[in-house]
Amino acid sequence: MNIALIAHDSKKELMTQFCIAYCGILSHHNLCATGTTGRLVSEATGLQITRFMSGAQGGDQQIASRIQCNEIDLLLFFRDPLNAKPHEPNEAAILRLCDVHNIPLATNIATAESLVMGLQRGDLDWRDIVNPKN
Ligand code: PGA
Repeated sequence: MNIALIAHDSKKELMTQFCIAYCGILSHHNLCATGTTGRLVSEATGLQITRFMSGAQGGDQQIASRIQCNEIDLLLFFRDPLNAKPHEPNEAAILRLCDVHNIPLATNIATAESLVMGLQRGDLDWRDIVNPKN
């Protein structure tokens, strides 16, 4: 499966800890991320991550275009709900695209844990049937 990671600044440590905790599962999948999130997670875990531009420079839009092309199967997007971002409209577009394309999406660690545990159990294997390229 192709898994995309995005974390706002205040959530980057949480994303890093999450990826350390679930490194064993995540290592079986193709990972991509916005620039800084990807760097921090790969430095902390050793996971191979395709890094796009930083979110503020368009990395979130790079991920959005991959969602549109059906190249993302799961998005973990740890958002800061308390502080507005200049590129917030792009981020709202990503959430919308996940709904348009039926992409499993976690915007907080509680949902992310459920999805990653489900991923391990094979609950998301229906994506391979819908999208056999994975
Ligand atoms: P970053 O982008 O991983 O490059 O910081 C994420 C964001 O803040 O939108």
